[in-house]
This record gives sequence, C-alpha cells and structure tokens, in this order.
Amino acid sequence: MKSPIGHLIGGELVSCAHARLQDVYNPATGEVLGHVELAARSTVEAAIAAAQAAFPAWSGILPAKRARLLGRFMALLEARADEICALITLEHGKVLDDARGELHRGIENVEFATYMPELLKGEHSKNVGPKIDSWSEFQPLGVVAGITPFNFPAMVPLWMYPAAIACGNTFVLKPSERDPSAALYIAQLALEAGIPSGVLNVVNGDKEAVDTLLTDKRVQAVSFVGSTPIAEYIYATASAHGKRVQALGGAKNHAVVMPDADLENAVNALMGAAYGSCGERCMAISVAVAVGNEVGDALVERLGAALAKLKVGPGTVRGAEMGPLISKPHFEKVRGYVDAGVAEGAKLAVDGRGLNVPGHEGGYFLGGTLFDHVTPEMSIYRDEIFGPVLCVVRAHSLEEAMALIDAHEYGNGTCIFTRDGEAARYFTDNIRVGMVGVNVPLPVPVSYHSFGGWKRSLFGDLSAYGPDAVRFYTRRKTVSQRWPAGGVRETAQFAFPA
Ligand code: NAD
Repeated sequence: MKSPIGHLIGGELVSCAHARLQDVYNPATGEVLGHVELAARSTVEAAIAAAQAAFPAWSGILPAKRARLLGRFMALLEARADEICALITLEHGKVLDDARGELHRGIENVEFATYMPELLKGEHSKNVGPKIDSWSEFQPLGVVAGITPFNFPAMVPLWMYPAAIACGNTFVLKPSERDPSAALYIAQLALEAGIPSGVLNVVNGDKEAVDTLLTDKRVQAVSFVGSTPIAEYIYATASAHGKRVQALGGAKNHAVVMPDADLENAVNALMGAAYGSCGERCMAISVAVAVGNEVGDALVERLGAALAKLKVGPGTVRGAEMGPLISKPHFEKVRGYVDAGVAEGAKLAVDGRGLNVPGHEGGYFLGGTLFDHVTPEMSIYRDEIFGPVLCVVRAHSLEEAMALIDAHEYGNGTCIFTRDGEAARYFTDNIRVGMVGVNVPLPVPVSYHSFGGWKRSLFGDLSAYGPDAVRFYTRRKTVSQRWPAGGVRETAQFAFPA
C-alpha cells in the first residue's frame, strides 16, 4: 500500500504511526488514490514548536535575503508547474488549464512577496519635536497559521505564507484534507529554494489540527479561507485566544445584466464564471440578475444554447471545459439543491442531473444546470451551492437588482454588464460588495491589491494578500528618538508633551 500523505515539520517529511487516516479520491473516477494522515494535537504542536524555533534566526535575516529566497522559490514553482498542475487536477478534478491559471495567480503572490523590503520600509518623520525624530516600523508577529479550503489547493496557501514569511514570520499551514498533495509538494519546493527548515511547516488534518492552531498560545495570528460557518467559528475561537484573525468565508455572487449589455460577451463571460471549475470558486457567479424581461428571455435562451456545447469531462482530457465536483457527498449536496429548486417552483431551463461521462461512471460529474425565474426566498438563491448551477433572477430596474444584492448575506464579488458608464459608476459607488467588476465577471484582484469580501464573506478587518497582508502579518512599532546635545541641562516637565 502507498504510504499515507504525512506532514512537513522542521524540514522533514513526517509520518505518525497510528494516525487517523482519511481517503483521498480521484473525483473523475471515484477511485481512492491514497490516504492522508489527520494530525493529532501532538503532531501540530511539534509543527508549532519547529516554527517557534526557526523564528529568531529567520526574523533576523535581512529582508532582502528573504526576498531573494522567495525569488528562487518562484523560479522553482514555474519550473515544476506541470507536476503541480497534474497534482491539482488529479485530486481536485479541475481541468488542467484552470489548474495552470490557479498556479499562475499563486505565483503572482510569491512575486509580490519578493517586494517586501520595499513594503517594509516604514514611515519616518524628522523633527516631530525639538530635535526629536519619529518612525514607525513593522515587525513580524512570530508563528502564524494558515487554514485553507479544497477549491484552490495551490493558490490559497500561496496567498498566505509567501507574504507572511517575507515579513519575517514563520508559518504552519493546514491545507484541505480533501486534496492535500499540491500544498505539500509546493512546500518542499520552498525548502529546495533554500528557505530554512522550520520556517514553513505543513500539517494535514481536520478539526483536531485546526483547533490546536486556534488555541495554542505560541500562534500569534490565523489566516483562514473556507466556508462561512467555519470562518465564523475560526474568527470567534482564535480571537478569544488572543490572536489576530482574518477569516474569509463563502459567497453568492450576482452578475447584473443590463438591457444595453453586449449580450454575447455577457453570455460568454457568464459561462466561464458560473461553470468554470464546476462552480467551485468563491468568486463564481451563481446568480444572473436580468434587468427587464426581454434581457431575461434572451439570456436564458443563449445560456441554454451555450450549455448544450459545454464539454464536461476529466480534467486531464484535452478540450474538457468543466471537470467533476470534489467528492461524492458534495455531488449529492449539489444535486439535492437542483431537486430543491424544482420543488420550490423555479423553472429548470437546463438540467445537469443524469449526465453520463463514458468510461467515468464512478466520477462526480454533474452537468451545467440553469434555473430561470428564481426568487429570493428559494434555497437555491439563498445558499452557496458551490456547484455548476446558475440561477437567473428577473428585476425591473438596476435599483431593484442592487437592492437584491445588498440584501444577501454574502458580499464577496459582483459584476455588472453594461455599456452605460453612468450605470456602471452608480453600481460601483453604491453596491455593498467587496470586489466589483464592470464587464469583468471574476474581479479577483491582482496580487498587489488585496482580496476580501464584505458582510458574511469576511470576518476580520484586513483582507487577504496585497497591501493588507503586509499589515496583517506585521505589528507596528513607533519609536520617538532624541539625542540631546552634550552639556545641555534639561528641566523636569510636568505637562503632557505638546
Ligand atoms: P471548509 O470550510 O469546509 O474547509 C476549509 C478548511 O477548514 C479546511 O482546511 C478544513 O479542514 C477546515 N475545517 C472544516 N471543518 C472544520 C471544523 N468543523 N472545524 C475546524 N476546521 C474545519 O471549506 P471547503 O469546503 O474546503 O471550501 C469551500 C468553501 O470555501 C466555500 O464556501 C468557498 O466559498 C470558500 N472559499 C472562500 C474564499 C474566499 O476568499 N472568500 C476562497 C476560496 C474558498
């Protein structure tokens, strides 16, 4: 039997006898690929101890030297892209092109981390008082933990630790136990690049591992990306244990299609945004709000025609546009939502249930599904389905469409398709959502902007990566300094210094 996927602790691949194991599947076939160890508390504590031990030396290294090591890491990620993408597709199921896109966006974040010496320069004021200079500097926190979801097994970890370690912290990553291999492989490349042992550690596991990270006194901060109920739990628990926390949660992203939109472009954009990665993206568009019935009818007709041509198949097959869902339970959950939508009275315009992918009957494939005449009280509208299901809602005006979006519990991403600059500006100015696109269906910020939603899509004050990461992974210290001239006598001052 293949040995189970273990952990990377203090620069060594570690396996624990008698560890609990979980199956890892190939979602395109339903076959068990192997097993992942679920770390016990003591294993996670060993990883935290390794990170703690590495911190003094690593935080003392010149920021430019840390950046150079990250530059080497970036080069290795580029050189080994094929191996990494093969692992992503094997365990996650997304098509290879999509895996490449994910990795590329992850590498962008490593590149951003290589600018850290510039970003850590701090703030300086000369003569804030008589012969007094003052500056603020940004010091690392210590041991930082990251807990990541299944849907971007390479990119989301790369949102976190490159910036964190570039700032001088050491890191313990807990990737998703459903597709753990890419994160572990990539962490080994960091070692190969020369990042010292213990600076980056990976523990695989479930709630037991996460709870250890949330409660251990040595962990100073926690970055989390995943579903909203868990994000809320992470935020409450880690905060109660005195840690700085950012917890990014789920989403229900709406695209507004205005009567003046270029409908063909909008349909093509919606196809990729709704069905790319089988809808398993936190920025996926899952609701299209058609402004006006004419747009609604035309949109549904054209989406239906495009769905008839959507190529669903294993991610490794050239030309496949959409792969399987991550797991059998998730497949059943998503199919259950399609059943619920029908029962709740939405019009099922395209039914993805019952899709057959020849030779892959055991895979978790669901065809692209389209609902029309969806209304806000339906579960398919309220809940994040995280599958290839697009709901079309009809609205009479832009204001009505925006009221709908604002009333939703999530506020991660949104987009408007229009040719009207005034409508676009009104939308971007007023919508209560964190990431907004104008004719851009997936407005995922590039690495030098930060990523974060509003409302119940983000718990915490700082977003992921970009400038916010520099603030999240450092602590400000402000120093005021005065060197009195020799021989000058000072008198006691009892008033507050002004
Ligand atoms: P998830 O919440 O089930 O798991 C995320 C992480 O939390 C995993 O590492 C998992 O092991 C851990 N976890 C799960 N249950 C736990 C528990 N009870 N206690 C402690 N830890 C627990 O999410 P997922 O299914 O892996 O990922 C999909 C979700 O992530 C979707 O909701 C999606 O919208 C969200 N997501 C959000 C963003 C964002 O930036 N906002 C990005 C990607 C994914």
